[in-house]
Amino acid sequence: MEKLLISACLVGENCRYDGKNCFSPLIEKLKAKYELILICPEYMGGLPIPRAPSERREGMVVSSKGVDVSVEYEIGAKLALFLARENNVVGAVLKEKSPSCGTHYIYDGTFSHVLIEGMGVTAELLHQHHIPVYSEDQIEELL
Ligand code: SF4
Repeated sequence: MEKLLISACLVGENCRYDGKNCFSPLIEKLKAKYELILICPEYMGGLPIPRAPSERREGMVVSSKGVDVSVEYEIGAKLALFLARENNVVGAVLKEKSPSCGTHYIYDGTFSHVLIEGMGVTAELLHQHHIPVYSEDQIEELL
């Protein structure tokens, strides 16, 4: 069975910044076709649950409290890349709009709910290493 990395919050893990999840009902169909390797780069990078929301800004990741959390995001991204390679995944399904996992859109760094085109830190690193990344809106392409 081919393997996919997947954002753990899409599978129902309560690992979001607010301690909630973003369960996607299409996950059951993905499970029938792929072995899913769960990742939460922010938690893997050492951030707690719950935690202050963060956004990418000027080459950094900054929390809503003004704390530079770039290092935690980079560690999480590198661990995700390690797991992708170890498991020889065919791709990664990642939560759109997240500063870690966003594949097409992220918030603009002003904490005012403005979306811009861009990728989260983990999605970007995986993409740079030629691992296909998909948002939850693209799951049907994989079925
Ligand atoms: S870092 Fe990714 S997997 Fe973790 S809660 Fe945020 S979007 Fe979900």
